[in-house]
Amino acid sequence: MKIHSFRTLRAAVSIAMAGIFLLQVTAISTGAYALGSAVGDMRQTTSRSGGTSCPQFTRFDVSTPGTINRQWSTSLGTNPVTILTVNQTAAGRLIEVENVIQQSLGAWTGVPGSSLKPATLGTLQRTSSPTACTSSDGLNSICLNQNDTAFAIGVLAFTRVVSADTAGEQLSASTLPSTFVGQILDADVLLRPSDAVTKFATPAALATNPNAYDLESILTHELGHSFGFSHSAVWRAMMFPFAPPPGQFTGTRPGSQSPDAALSDDDRTGLRVLYPDPNDTTHVGNIQGHILPASPLALPSSPPGVTGIFPAQVVAVDNATGAVAAATMGGWSCSNPGPAQFDGSYTFERLPVGASQSYQVYAEPLDGPVTPGDVIYNPTGLCRNSATDPGWPTQFACTLPPFATPFSARVRPGS
Ligand SMILES: [Zn+2]
Repeated sequence: MKIHSFRTLRAAVSIAMAGIFLLQVTAISTGAYALGSAVGDMRQTTSRSGGTSCPQFTRFDVSTPGTINRQWSTSLGTNPVTILTVNQTAAGRLIEVENVIQQSLGAWTGVPGSSLKPATLGTLQRTSSPTACTSSDGLNSICLNQNDTAFAIGVLAFTRVVSADTAGEQLSASTLPSTFVGQILDADVLLRPSDAVTKFATPAALATNPNAYDLESILTHELGHSFGFSHSAVWRAMMFPFAPPPGQFTGTRPGSQSPDAALSDDDRTGLRVLYPDPNDTTHVGNIQGHILPASPLALPSSPPGVTGIFPAQVVAVDNATGAVAAATMGGWSCSNPGPAQFDGSYTFERLPVGASQSYQVYAEPLDGPVTPGDVIYNPTGLCRNSATDPGWPTQFACTLPPFATPFSARVRPGS
């Protein structure tokens, strides 16, 4: 079982001085959705490890409708108020907050071409427990007023994800065993309890509370983590690691006709890769390639076997619209039984295809504002070895190379 590193959403205050710079850079700069991954425990039997040391996406089992449970803690701070709402009554406040949670969930379950549907989730329950996000109990909880040592300065929210690294793993006797490596068993979302400088507001209350962070943007971002996402370096992506400034929100507001409106195409593509809809005939395009150094001398000498750039942000731009269709973190590949090879490979999956659909592909380093550490904060999700896991079989061992930043890229004609 693996408890992922905390996935944090940071306040814009830490980058406020670079705000304009960010806008200028990201007009031409792009990044990538990144998905969490886990390597099966190759010290176990094949039936438990899956028989491969290739990284597996961390994701929920969506094969049975209604099995992803959700609950939120109605414990809200009163002094200061944790969540600013228009409705000031106790009951009305809960309804207003609950609607925001539903909207945030709806953004992720409203993406065409994904098997994550509203019916995939169980009914959103309430709990009065003020510490619902303490234990790995198999209850996917949202806590809006529970403190935690992970709330360092600038951390607005984080999600703690527990995933299985073997099939048949159980959190407790009362929870179902995992059916595959990478299966998310527990995902708790915690928002920073309000203090003198941090407060959150529902969309309805945001305009009159411009110093508050948008609850819906923060929740939607964290729920992306809970469904298996890492961070994206795409400026307008929901999974960008920095929160919108107080008074602002990410994307556009969802509506009943377009519940996924808040997401970017990068987020949507990532979701389709994580939870593909087998009946989707539109998003079936793949693009593959390699990012290689002009000189092999540019590659790290240790660990051995590194033949390409790692990591690299690779982005596919729709030629017709100029919009980012998707971006991915490239630099490695894996074929069963693994381990991962650092050969500079990248793969786009689930791109929309059509008669006149074409893409341009760019590569760039993660040299800020999003850095490799924002995306690869769980190194054992790609490589495990005897240093990370005593007794790890040598033939399935690999070691992450040092991060390649910065580098410049150009396209080799015909490649
Ligand atoms: Zn995050």
